[in-house]
Amino acid sequence: MNIKCNLLDLNQKALTDFFKTLGEKPYRVKQIMRWIYKYYEFDFDKMLNLSKKLREQLNDTVCIELPKVVKQSNAFDGVIKWVIDAGKNNFIETVYIPEKDRGTLCISSQVGCSLACTFCYTGMQGFNRNLTTAEIIAQVMIVNLHLNNKNKRISNVVFMGMGEPLLNEQAVYTACDLLLDDLAFGFSRRKVTISTSGVVPALLRMADRTPVSLAISLHTSDDLLRDELVPINQKYPIKELISACRNYLNAGTQERHILFEYVMLDGVNDSVVQAKKLAFLLKGLSVKVNLIPFNSFPETKYKPSEKVTIALFQDILFDNGIRTTIRRTRGGDISGACGQLAGKIIDKTKRIKDIAG
Ligand code: SAH
Ligand code: SF4
Repeated sequence: MNIKCNLLDLNQKALTDFFKTLGEKPYRVKQIMRWIYKYYEFDFDKMLNLSKKLREQLNDTVCIELPKVVKQSNAFDGVIKWVIDAGKNNFIETVYIPEKDRGTLCISSQVGCSLACTFCYTGMQGFNRNLTTAEIIAQVMIVNLHLNNKNKRISNVVFMGMGEPLLNEQAVYTACDLLLDDLAFGFSRRKVTISTSGVVPALLRMADRTPVSLAISLHTSDDLLRDELVPINQKYPIKELISACRNYLNAGTQERHILFEYVMLDGVNDSVVQAKKLAFLLKGLSVKVNLIPFNSFPETKYKPSEKVTIALFQDILFDNGIRTTIRRTRGGDISGACGQLAGKIIDKTKRIKDIAG
C-alpha cells in the first residue's frame, strides 16, 4: 500500500481545502472529481486539463489507489461476492444483489466487527480495524468497473456487510458524502442506508451529520433477550435506542423513515407474543419491518424459523398497521447472504467487553 494520501479518502470539501494549499482555484476540484468518479482515471499524467506543474505536484504528494480484489464468486441467483485485500492478511467482502428493478450493493465498513452478536458470522470472527473512506468507496468503484461491461448497475448501497458503521463514524460519514455528491456517485439519500445494531451516541450524531437512510438491527423488543443476541444492548438498552430513533425521525428537513431489521431465530424471538410486543414498541413511528430468515453458518446454535412462523409473525405486524416485508435469502451458495460474510480477520479481540466496559 502507498503511504501517500489517497485522494479517495477526501470528500469535496477536503479536496477543496487540499487544492487551496497547493494555491489552486476551486474549479480544479471539479476537474479532478470528474477524472476520478466519471472516467475512473487514476493516472495524474493522463489528466491533460491539469497543468504540468500541478500533475507533478500531485504525483509527488498524493495517489489514487483501489485495494486489490483477490476473489470473485458468482452465485446461481446472480449474486456476486468480491473478496478484497485489506492488507496484513485481512480480507473484507462486498456483495452485489441484482433484482428486477434494482441492484443493491452491500458494503463493509470494518475488518470484522467487535460487537459479537451471537447470530452473526462476522461477529464471531472478531475485529481487526476500521476501513478508511477510500476502502469503503473503493468497494462501489470496483463493482461499478465490473458491472459497466455487463449493462448492470448499482441503484442502492447498504452498509450491511462486515462491521458496525457507527463504530467507524468519520470514515463512514465521509464515504456517505461522496456517495451522495453529484460530482462523485450521485445517489439520492434514500438509496444509501446505514445499518446499525444500536450505537446510541453515534446514532444521535448521525441524525444531524448525514441525511442517508437508517436501518436498525433490533431482532427483539425484549431487553433481556436482546442483551444476549446483540450484546451492545447491555450498554444501550431498547428504550434509549428507540428514543434515538425518534430523534433521527424528527431531525433533518426532509421526511424520514426507519427500517427495522429482525432476524428470525427458531424458538428464540419468533413467537406470537414477541410479534405483539414488537408491534406495541413500534406503534406510531414511521417505520417498516424487514423480517430476515436466519442464514446459518458453521457451529451456530441457532436455527432458522419455519416459513409459516415467519408468515404468522408478519400477519400480526400487518394487523397492527406495521408495514412488514420478508427478505428473500440470496447468494446462499457462495456464503454471500446477510451475516454469512466472514472475509478473513486477524482478530485483535477488541470485542464487546472493551466497548461496553
Ligand atoms: N453491524 C450492522 C451492519 C452489518 S450486519 C448491523 O448489525 O446492523 C447487517 C445485517 O445482517 C444486520 O441486520 C444483521 O443483524 C444481519 N445479520 C447478521 N447475521 C445474520 C445471519 N446469520 N442471518 C441473517 N441476518 C444476519
Ligand atoms: Fe457486528 Fe452487525 Fe454482526 Fe452485530 S450483526 S456482530 S453489529 S456486523
